[in-house]
Amino acid sequence: MSEPKKFDVAVIGAGPGGYVAAIRAAQRGSHVALIEREFLGGVCLNVGCIPTKTLISNAQIYEKILHAEEYGIKVGELSFDYSQMKERKDRVVSSIRNSLEGLLKANKIEILRGHAEFLSPTEVKIKGENNLVISVDKTIIATGSQPFDVPAFPCDHERIFNSSSILEWKELPKKLAIIGGGYIGCEFASLYAEFGVEVVILEALDSIVQTQGKDIAQVLTKAFENKGIQIRCGVFVEGIVRNGDGLKVKLKGGEEVDCDAALVSVGRKIVSDQLGLEKAGVKTDERGTILVNDKMETNVPGIYAIGDVTGRFMLAHVASHQGIIAATNATGQESYMHYNAVPAVIFTQPEIATVGMTVEQAKEAGYDAVPGRFPFQVLGKSVASLDTEGFAQIVIDKKTQQILGAQVVGHEASTLIAEIALAITNELTLDCITETIHAHPTVAEAWLEAALIAGETPIHFPPKRR
Ligand SMILES: Cc1cc2nc3c(=O)[nH]c(=O)nc-3n(C[C@H](O)[C@H](O)[C@H](O)COP(=O)(O)OP(=O)(O)OC[C@H]3O[C@@H](n4cnc5c(N)ncnc54)[C@H](O)[C@@H]3O)c2cc1C
Repeated sequence: MSEPKKFDVAVIGAGPGGYVAAIRAAQRGSHVALIEREFLGGVCLNVGCIPTKTLISNAQIYEKILHAEEYGIKVGELSFDYSQMKERKDRVVSSIRNSLEGLLKANKIEILRGHAEFLSPTEVKIKGENNLVISVDKTIIATGSQPFDVPAFPCDHERIFNSSSILEWKELPKKLAIIGGGYIGCEFASLYAEFGVEVVILEALDSIVQTQGKDIAQVLTKAFENKGIQIRCGVFVEGIVRNGDGLKVKLKGGEEVDCDAALVSVGRKIVSDQLGLEKAGVKTDERGTILVNDKMETNVPGIYAIGDVTGRFMLAHVASHQGIIAATNATGQESYMHYNAVPAVIFTQPEIATVGMTVEQAKEAGYDAVPGRFPFQVLGKSVASLDTEGFAQIVIDKKTQQILGAQVVGHEASTLIAEIALAITNELTLDCITETIHAHPTVAEAWLEAALIAGETPIHFPPKRR
């Protein structure tokens, strides 16, 4: 029998965690195999970040045209073809996927297509388009997550959908029930409501986007209600049954909600089964989450895990950053993961973005925390572009002036948050923002103003009453 092919580093899963880890390991001189059983780019590129944001960009344009008269622009009768939007989304995904394949090849990474399974800590079997056993020095597991299916009302993908199958829609239903008001459920609610779908969110907890804190949950609830999205919190869905061409969603207590389609968005299942982890000796918790330290090492020397499969934050950019850390460690240089400045964005209308601590969290952590909040209503660029909803808020420690966190609601929140992520990562203080010249008129000036307010020297905002 011939010797198994040998690699310095094997990466299992080509999502934003795995492919980034593979590139960094190859850059550092390793011979790298990247194993993928479905599509390059993983959930993020194929059924997550990119397809959803492509559709959301359609909704943003539609919404602007709907309000064109406010800008003095007259348009005729407005209509849309959702199937064309879906086709555009497919083209965007496949073009990025092709570029990614080129990028991996340019880095001399060997792409192996098939399901990977450990035979031992240093041997991985690949079964699929490629069938082989490889021998590896180091392995990085990046197998991600998938939608959680609820046994009481499994997705049939005809009327009851998950976050992947809903992306295959070619036309929109009249009424959609979304079970689960986390960030994914809320992004879909915002998207479809923009196109006139009647949306009801059914959430078991006492608010939507609960992980973002009360302040953000309240703002988004109000904005959604203004758009006609119905939000039902504290309700427990027990079942979903067919009702002619539609569905009846059965709530605990006997109430029923009629709709044409349902989206089940109640969380993600870790993908760590069928990986042969027991043969490699890698430990997981009861949910299948692979346990790692801050170097992304598992309990087995030479085996690392990154991304959704490690259960922390479950965001693409966290997976990618963990990938850099794991690949750096796997190729001989110590590197550690820090989580104090992870930006999180919800691409609803209005957008929401957060990083670091809220005022409450900072106080709990023992800081003398104060906020500086600047409303877009009084920012020149926002007024000029009729995007005055929301605010930018910075959180600082009054004693040391260190920047601890930020929350933004509104136009361009997703882009704005980067400035404060940079500030927190580099332990900057308030004067670093106030001494930076911010171009005028831009929405980024909101940080200058928020920082001036936090330092009690506001320029474009009335002083505090003494
Ligand atoms: C609808 C939706 C919208 C989202 N929007 C955002 C967003 O805007 N911003 C953001 O940061 N995050 C977003 N996310 C989350 C983001 O997609 C994930 O956090 C990210 O994809 C995780 O990356 P990963 O590399 O850990 O795994 P994944 O992207 O899940 O990739 C894992 C890969 O491993 C492969 N694989 C699994 N097991 C094996 C095996 N045994 N052998 C070979 N291959 C295997 C899978 O086929 C898959 O391609 C969104 C998610 C969803 C569902």
